[in-house]
Formats: sequence, structure tokens, C-alpha cells
Amino acid sequence: MSDALLRLAERRALARLFRQAGFPLPPVLRRDASPWSERGLDERLIAAPALPGAALDRPLARALAEAGATVVRDVEAAAFIEAGQAWSRPVLAGADRLDGIVLDATGLRTVEALASLREQTGPLLGRLRSGGRVLALARPPEELVDAEAAASQRAVEGFVRSLARELGRKGGTANLLLVGEGGAEGLAGPLRFFLSDRSAFVSGVVLRLSSAVALPPPRWLRPLDGGLVLVTGAARGIGAATVRALRREGARVLALDRPGEETVLAELAGDPARALGLDLAAGETPARLVEAVEANGGRLRAVVHNAGITRDKTLGRMGPEHWQPVLDINLGAVLRAQAALDPLVEDGGRIVALSSIAGLAGNAGQTAYAASKAGIAGWVAARAPSLAARGVALNAIAPGFIETRLTAAIPLLTREFGRRLSNLSQGGLPEDVAEAVVFLCSPGAAGLSGQVLRVCGGSYLGA
Ligand code: NAP
Repeated sequence: MSDALLRLAERRALARLFRQAGFPLPPVLRRDASPWSERGLDERLIAAPALPGAALDRPLARALAEAGATVVRDVEAAAFIEAGQAWSRPVLAGADRLDGIVLDATGLRTVEALASLREQTGPLLGRLRSGGRVLALARPPEELVDAEAAASQRAVEGFVRSLARELGRKGGTANLLLVGEGGAEGLAGPLRFFLSDRSAFVSGVVLRLSSAVALPPPRWLRPLDGGLVLVTGAARGIGAATVRALRREGARVLALDRPGEETVLAELAGDPARALGLDLAAGETPARLVEAVEANGGRLRAVVHNAGITRDKTLGRMGPEHWQPVLDINLGAVLRAQAALDPLVEDGGRIVALSSIAGLAGNAGQTAYAASKAGIAGWVAARAPSLAARGVALNAIAPGFIETRLTAAIPLLTREFGRRLSNLSQGGLPEDVAEAVVFLCSPGAAGLSGQVLRVCGGSYLGA
């Protein structure tokens, strides 16, 4: 889209002149839109400094080595040496350049111990390349009985969110995984996502890993191979990017948008039989969806509830004609469609619904939209536990400012302000959200359910 400052930043020589003159330009983000591979972190140099009491050496070492990463660590630890040998990725004692840092902060249980966050991370930052990734691991504070231990684990969150702001200037990100009881089993998938360039616009995020949903056998190559995935609102924007990314990973996509969009949907889905022109607000749509799934094999690997609308008005001016369709399409239709589709979702399937930062942070003129999107977050949290027994994970994605038609309609100054508010001083792209959807639809994301993954560059403002 038309971010003039970003276009300038992409012209290296000119950008250098601007920067030398003291004019800040947004960083050009590194993005990875290539197909998934067995070694998703191949060639990556990841520092794993030894923090006191770290409890996750073994799963961490294995997940990193298996993904092809080389661990950089100045303190020897058997788990890292053994995993490095097993996958021919010997541990390095040091490196001039780092692609990422993993901080296992699970053992920091006192105020004093928190000092190691500064001591161990600070000296590494000078070697972290532009666009480098930091991923911290901690325990969910509420699982700890001791108040100082819980406070210390919670402190990691503030540290990570602030570091995310600092790293954003150079296109880097920092995120936190709270590893609950048994959650370490599901570390490999999230590790590959958060340490790779598929998470370019994900920063300042805190997610909880649990063992509620059984972890299926890993599948890193074409993770959605042969699976049928329904994507609503697929004709443009985030939906269209999502269809492309899902197909890249082997999915057969049922692409739905309003009647009249069948031609573009057929092209995106690669098959007219998988193009659905349906109005989600219509009463008969859930039944029509069931018919469409049955006509395409009858089982759904994943559902992506992406369609959404805005009808912005301040509350005093908002009539039922603004409120009702927003709540109905963004929330009511999702619940109705999913209720009909539930029996068709495979065991081990995935459901992703699009929320919004507006639903988490609020936005003037968007009481209806924010209510609908907060409702999605509430629905996801409430429904996830009952789906877990079948191995089905249900999550929401909350995009921030993403460069689509929706944000292009925002008045110029507000739009410009909105872009620069993120840690990365720019809006995200539909592809950034699409990569997050693919990740949450993959077998390796089983550790995440009932969660809201923000794709907002660390900003709380957006459509
Ligand atoms: P978009 O470009 O407007 O695409 C959404 C698509 O859904 C449109 O083709 C739209 O058709 C379709 N749709 C809406 N109501 C429908 C209905 N009743 N039946 C069938 N199709 C329907 O939106 P986007 O920017 O890609 O956003 C996708 C999702 O992400 C939405 O849920 C949005 O709320 C959320 N989101 C976006 C942003 C952002 O910055 N772009 C930020 C936060 C959250 P019409 O155009 O005809 O309505």
C-alpha cells in the first residue's frame, strides 16, 4: 500500500541520506513467505544464554537443533551439546552476529535473580542483526504459589514488552511464551514461528503454552497437505493473502465471500468448485456451508473466520443500522457458522477467528466493531476447553494496523499516525496475518488454544 516513508526507506542510498540528516525512517522488515521446510531455522545463529534455574534446556535444545538452528552459548550444558551432536549442529561458544536470542527465564524466582535478564541479554544486543528476534520463556505467574516468584515471572513480561519497543527501531521483535504445566512439549512449533521471519509483524506478544490439546506427530513440510480449509472474506485483503499462504502449504481452500465474487474466489481457490459466493448474514448460510464441505470430501482441517465489516460512528450518532450488521457479521455469523461446522471439523483440526486490536484496546468511533471483536476473544476463550478433547485448537488473531482497503479508508493524518505508533513504525501487510493463520492452523501449534495472537507490531491501535 502507499506508505511513502517506507517506500523511501526501501531505496537504500536515498534512505542513508535521510537518516544521516537525522530524519528517522521505518525499518524495512525481513519477511519469509517461502514454503515451510523441515529445518525452519536453518543457518540461524540463536543465542541461548544460561539464566539461573532455567528449566527448559532439554526441550529447547532439541527444538532448536531439530529446526536446524545453531545454538550460541558460552556456558556448557549437556542438553545443548547432545542435541547439537544429534542434529549435526555443534554449539558455538560465541558468534559475531546473531539472528535471535532465546531467554529461558523460567527459573527467575526472586527480585535479585531478575538482574540476569540485563546481565545476560544486554551484551548480546550489539550482535543481534537488524530484524533479529528475541523470544523469552517464563512460567504463568498464576501457577506459582510464592508471591515473589510469581512477581518475578510477571516482571519478565514488562521486560519483554519494553525490549520489543527498543528492537523495533531496527525491525527486531521480542515476544514471550508462558510455558504452563506440560506446555514445553509444544514448544517446537511456536519456536519456529517466533524466531523466523514469518513473524515479522508480531511483537510484544505474550502467549500461554499448555498441553490441553494433544500434540500430533510433527509435520513441518507442507503442514496442511491435502486438508480442506474454509476461509471467509476471502476475496481480498487478509482473506486473499490467507488463501494463498494456506494453498502454498498444501491446503485445499474453500474460499467464501459475498455473492458476485465467485470469479475472483475461483481463481484464488484454484477450483470453481471451491468458490462460495454466500452472504454470511443470511439465515440459510450455515446449511449451505455444510453442503459445500460435504461436496468437497466432508471433513475440515481448519476454519478461518476472517470476514468482517466496520461501520464507524461515535456512539451518540450510531444507529441500529450501524450497530446491528457489525455485531451480526463479525460475531453472530461466526458463532452460527461454527456451530453448524463443528461436527465436520477433523479431530486435531484448527479454528482461527479474526479479532482486532480495537477489541482489546478500544477505539473512538468503534464501539460496535470493538464489541464484536472483543466478543470473538471471549468466544475463543470460552469454547477452546470443550474442543480440546478432540484435539481441536481454537484461537483468535488480533491484527493491528494492516495495510488493506479497511485502513486505506482512514483519514490521511490519522492513518499516518496509526502506522508510526507500532514498535516497527509502520503498518503490517495482509501477508503478516496470513503467516500467523498458517502457523495456528499447523499441527505444531497445538500448544496454543483459547489464545489471542496479536499481529500488530506491538501497537494497540488499529482497525
Ligand atoms: P476487507 O479487505 O474488507 O475484506 C473482508 C472481506 O469480507 C470483504 O471481501 C467483505 O466483503 C467480506 N465480507 C464482509 N461481510 C461479509 C458477509 N456478510 N458475507 C460474506 N463476505 C463478507 O477486510 P480486511 O482488512 O482484509 O480484514 C479481514 C479481517 O481482519 C476482518 O475481520 C477485520 O475486521 C480484521 N481486521 C483487519 C484489520 C486491518 O487493519 N485491515 C485490523 C484488525 C482486524 P465486502 O467488502 O463486500 O463487505
